[in-house]
Amino acid sequence: MPEELPFPTLAPRSTEVRRTGRRGRASGAAAQAFVPDTEQLVAALAVAERGDTLSHRDAETLLHARGAELDRLLAVAGRMRDAGLAAAGRPGVITYSRKVFIPLTHLCRDRCHYCTFVQSPGKLAAAGKAPFLSPDDVLDVARQGAAMGCKEALFTLGDRPEDRWGAAREWLDEHGYASTIDYLRAMAELVLAETGLLPHLNPGIMYAEEIELLKPVGPSMGMMLETTSERIWLEKGEAHFGSPDKDPALRLSVLENAGRLKVPFTTGLLFGIGENYAERIDGMFAIRDSAERHGHVQEVIIQNFRAKPATAMMGVADLETQEYVAAVAVAKLVLGPGARIQAPPNLTDALELSLLVRAGIDDWGGVSPLTPDHVNPERPWPQIDTLAALTAATGYTLRERLTAHPHYVRDEGEWFDPRVLPALRALADPTGLAVEGRVPAPQRAGASR
Ligand code: SF4
Repeated sequence: MPEELPFPTLAPRSTEVRRTGRRGRASGAAAQAFVPDTEQLVAALAVAERGDTLSHRDAETLLHARGAELDRLLAVAGRMRDAGLAAAGRPGVITYSRKVFIPLTHLCRDRCHYCTFVQSPGKLAAAGKAPFLSPDDVLDVARQGAAMGCKEALFTLGDRPEDRWGAAREWLDEHGYASTIDYLRAMAELVLAETGLLPHLNPGIMYAEEIELLKPVGPSMGMMLETTSERIWLEKGEAHFGSPDKDPALRLSVLENAGRLKVPFTTGLLFGIGENYAERIDGMFAIRDSAERHGHVQEVIIQNFRAKPATAMMGVADLETQEYVAAVAVAKLVLGPGARIQAPPNLTDALELSLLVRAGIDDWGGVSPLTPDHVNPERPWPQIDTLAALTAATGYTLRERLTAHPHYVRDEGEWFDPRVLPALRALADPTGLAVEGRVPAPQRAGASR
């Protein structure tokens, strides 16, 4: 067992012991080809504390930090975050986006072993649901969200369901859409026009021409890289086996295309699905390299695996807390002071959120006062007031941002299609953050504002 950290916030560790005692492998138990000794760990910490560039091996070594070494690692990462926020002109500010979640379809052609979002057409039909949300359903949620001051419409959906399910293909044909992406574009355009909410588009794999199709209807897009481990995709029994869209090379090409096409892009890594530490670092370096090439990676989500009932991975242990915060801190150090590091606030127990702040996060991502987290329905988002209080208790201030991060909003430049600019400008303050309390207004021609 790793040594206990001297943090008052670790009381829920008894829960972790129980989790790792469940049947199945522990998330941290993926084979490690390299396990550093204390001397190597201390040497890697010294590199980080001097502010020198971490090698791949340094970063991998630091993932092993626990106890007092983890304490030192968090301190370095936290200082880098603070310097980055000061350079960005918002010292001490941790951001979030007030959003509604629009699950356009729960159908998907993939079979990720941890997923509870995905459903079959039969299950949907038995529940009296169509393969896709109708335009009225979409607008209903968006309008309710806009009335509550949400500014982001997060479209999350399964990947290319029409390639697997006849019901999805038939629904699209009947309604006159060539593809799920085609329908997504239409719904994002509708929401933008009718509510002024800013669509963030998260449909999985997008080819270059699809990114171009979507850019005029959303100021930002996203796709979790999740992992660069081919092993997890290729080997039977691993989390991404049988999921064509989880080919790491394909996902990296999406990241590259989004950069070439100048789209403010959210990506991230999912830890605890069977990858080893070297693979975790590979993922961080891949994102850093793409971000350096194109400047488009607006935030990097570091997400911890949480086992969900009735999934193939229900018996796999959740990512252990110290392992997770070490990964967050190393991601901060690898990605640098200009990167925004996000951790979902609903996937860590409230008492432990302060550890994520210490580890260098500066964004909580999208939080909804209206809709549940459809991807992690068993883990409700904290109330925004609660999140503000928890953030304040760590010495930081919670501040609302838009779906595109501030420096893109300020720059505008090539980052946005002119068709999304009026809605974006209507909700942005001069710093590029959101005007808190402002309610979006319809953008269609002649709409009253
Ligand atoms: S691609 Fe997404 S929606 Fe589809 S099975 Fe995997 S996690 Fe679920």
